[in-house]
Amino acid sequence: MSVLKFQHARETVIEQVRSHRCALTPEAVGLSESLGRVLAEPIHADRDLPPFPRATRDGFAVRSADAAQAPARLRLKGQARAGFEFAGTVGAGECVEIMTGAPVPAGADAVVMVEYSTEHDGWVDLNRAATPGQNIVPQGSESRRGDFLLSAGRRIGYAEIAMMAAVGSQTVSVYPKPRVAILPTGDEVVELGTTPGPYQIRNSNSYSLQAQVASAQAIPLPLGIAPDREDRLREMIAEGLRADLLLLSGGVSVGKFDLVEKVLAEFQAEFFFDGVAIQPGRPLVFGRAQGAFFFGLPGNPLSTMVTFELFARPALALLSGEPDAPLLFLRARLAKDVRRRPGLTAFLPAMLEGSHGDPVASRPLVSPIEWKGSGDIASLTRANCYLVVPEHAEELREGEWVSVLPR
Ligand code: AMP
Ligand code: MG
Repeated sequence: MSVLKFQHARETVIEQVRSHRCALTPEAVGLSESLGRVLAEPIHADRDLPPFPRATRDGFAVRSADAAQAPARLRLKGQARAGFEFAGTVGAGECVEIMTGAPVPAGADAVVMVEYSTEHDGWVDLNRAATPGQNIVPQGSESRRGDFLLSAGRRIGYAEIAMMAAVGSQTVSVYPKPRVAILPTGDEVVELGTTPGPYQIRNSNSYSLQAQVASAQAIPLPLGIAPDREDRLREMIAEGLRADLLLLSGGVSVGKFDLVEKVLAEFQAEFFFDGVAIQPGRPLVFGRAQGAFFFGLPGNPLSTMVTFELFARPALALLSGEPDAPLLFLRARLAKDVRRRPGLTAFLPAMLEGSHGDPVASRPLVSPIEWKGSGDIASLTRANCYLVVPEHAEELREGEWVSVLPR
């Protein structure tokens, strides 16, 4: 049928999922349970942030004009503590001792740090000059009451949780998690807990997929292993299509017993593509049947894992209510030459290194990991990213800037 180039296949997934995803019914969760979920409502500031002019240092609140030159001597009028209002005004020639987080008293427009002062008998000597606004965050300078802070569709991380706590959101409205059926196929594939026969392979794909689905904040529904037999595959696909997304592994190549597409077609499936010019993962299938999307992921473990990251993870972002599904590619310098046969965009297991303070010239540095093909799970456990080799590149040279997709 149709083999698409990587970028085209990605766009196809995004367009199809975006235009055919179902309306999502929000649910309420406690703020502490909302990590990783997608906001279904916008969040606004319930008051000015900060709600009062806030001192950012321990020291003395002053009129900056009184301490425009150092040294300066001011009369100590009292103390402003965090959490309390200072009753009174800082007048000319006066100062008020102030703590970090306290409201700056009326009249004062600067805070001089305690480190630049000495206090004796009701007087304070400042040995640094003050400038207007110094060490004060003005009321409402971060946001004004009613300001829009977070939009619906935003994935909730720890900063979003801090923001919502700061404006008093104890429960938040989030979209439901997509339900993802996982269906590994193959006569040779056996479940953990049984001793594999000499020509059998343990089912690892179901487990990597469950982990990937869970890390995408969706609900994995493992269905057990389907043999390469149409009747059983039909039953299990029927069950899988009741989820929001069905992930099949194996059975999508051109072998006699690769039956996945044939059986899916019986469900009036729409196929958007059944191949992508990538390595690993070329026979990837994507479509929709009975209101559910499905991916037929190639069965080789690296192919299954990589195609999930490239296509299923973005699809899940959209099915979760996110407006976009960007993949974040980084740039790094290649540690050694890479040579290969051109024609497919390759995603090779690789190790990205770089640390704070590294000279920009040579880092970050990416080294391809030796791998023995798309069945070589161990190679991926030694990698922290995929090195992207563009479709037409025959060779990438040491020192060249290349694209990297973190894993
Ligand atoms: P297939 O895509 O069905 O042609 O399978 C490609 C390769 O992946 C074969 O060597 C399979 O044995 C292997 N494979 C298929 N399914 C799984 C699975 N669930 N876990 C581990 N390996 C698998
Ligand atoms: Mg197979």
